Amino acid sequence: MSDIEALVASLRATFRSGRTKPLAWRRAQLIALRALFTENRDAIADALHADLRKPRREAYAAEVDFPIREIDHTLAHLEEWLAPEPLGSESLTGLPEGTTAATHYEPLGTVLVIAPWNYPVQLSLVPVAGALASGNTVILKPSELAPATSTLMARLVPQYLDPEAVAVVEGAVPETTELLAQRFDHIFYTGNGTVGRIVMRAAAEHLTPVTLELGGKSPVFVDRDTDIDTVAARLADAKFRNAGQTCVAPDYVLTDPATAQRLASALAEAVERLFGSDPQTSDAYGRIVNQRHFDRIAALLDSGTLAFGGRTDRDDVYIAPTVLTGVQAEDPVMQEEIFGPVLPIVEVAGLDEAIAFINDRDKPLALYGFTENETTRARLAAETSSGGLGFGLPMAHLRVPDLPFGGVGESGLGSYHGPYSIATFSHRRARLDVPLN
Ligand code: NAD
Repeated sequence: MSDIEALVASLRATFRSGRTKPLAWRRAQLIALRALFTENRDAIADALHADLRKPRREAYAAEVDFPIREIDHTLAHLEEWLAPEPLGSESLTGLPEGTTAATHYEPLGTVLVIAPWNYPVQLSLVPVAGALASGNTVILKPSELAPATSTLMARLVPQYLDPEAVAVVEGAVPETTELLAQRFDHIFYTGNGTVGRIVMRAAAEHLTPVTLELGGKSPVFVDRDTDIDTVAARLADAKFRNAGQTCVAPDYVLTDPATAQRLASALAEAVERLFGSDPQTSDAYGRIVNQRHFDRIAALLDSGTLAFGGRTDRDDVYIAPTVLTGVQAEDPVMQEEIFGPVLPIVEVAGLDEAIAFINDRDKPLALYGFTENETTRARLAAETSSGGLGFGLPMAHLRVPDLPFGGVGESGLGSYHGPYSIATFSHRRARLDVPLN
């Protein structure tokens, strides 16, 4: 038996012993995970700085405080979310008098969480929190592309969480491939669609259900006559945080030609307010994860007209916050998810053309709109599809734990956060009780 086979067998034995099922155990794990965050804030921020030069403010907000909020919300509502849901008597006509029926959540068993490098703590431990709250045992495989964070989690998780129920397996493709050959009861993968397909194929061998949290090109529609300074400030913050390496970051803007010009100038001012005149020297601005991704993003700069930014420094894996105007659908920057600090503005005549542009492409993970017009909002909602839809403040929808977070079509399968994590990591079992006489 290989080490990984033995590990899966031992986690399965823990699950079968029944110890992960009681509410008390689940709550204790969530409280311990909360302590992992509160007691290691600085170690987490240091690791993220080493891996991504992640600004400390961003590290605390997205990778410490966000998971704590998610854990607190789960602790406050777990019992209510897990409560059986009885059916009304109108569902039971034709059955003997006294019959009752309900749905119950039960844990799935032993689950695998495979995480990416861009928010390597949040995207590892928030799914783990959901798996534990649902009463499962878990293997976490962090991304090898964020090695300091991966090592830190491998050290901290066994110190805080039940070591017989949770394990961290570090590694790259060979380790992940071996993990994927095992039988799990659920696989939760966050990352790109190419690997998502590998995960789903491997899961099919065991009929294992999967959640695929993928990415894509998330569009932003900016209506004419919208307060352009507010739009630019919110757009710049969402786009250039973590140097654009956020799955729900605005990927490109669709707007009319006159608004495009005004927006490009307002974005230049917003970027200067956020990062000063030389973002390379700003503590508030991150770096590209590695030179492979740097080369990929740098090659996309050759599209449209450079409105501002465009500076690159390969040795420092630095790409300046960049805005491109007059970008055409055929340009390189429009062929793939950018996942970097480059914002193309594509000109459209109006809403009809914007909706057609969006619908000609894969369903995105998020769609954003800036408009005061209710009809425009209603049409964007009714005539397009995306994982999430946000008006007024890009990326804020994922901070609301009672909203499901996930994609649709090419941007993913399934969702999580708050009660949706419980639904993902549980089986909803049907129960019918018919009296014997
Ligand atoms: P990554 O390269 O770190 O890969 C993710 C995981 O897949 C890692 O754990 C890695 O070890 C594993 N992996 C890589 N190659 C593999 C292979 N051949 N076989 C098996 N496993 C393999 O991360 P990434 O994919 O570069 O992350 C960026 C992508 O993730 C973007 O597309 C982004 O939009 C998406 N993303 C989505 C979300 C979301 O919540 N929906 C969040 C963050 C990132």
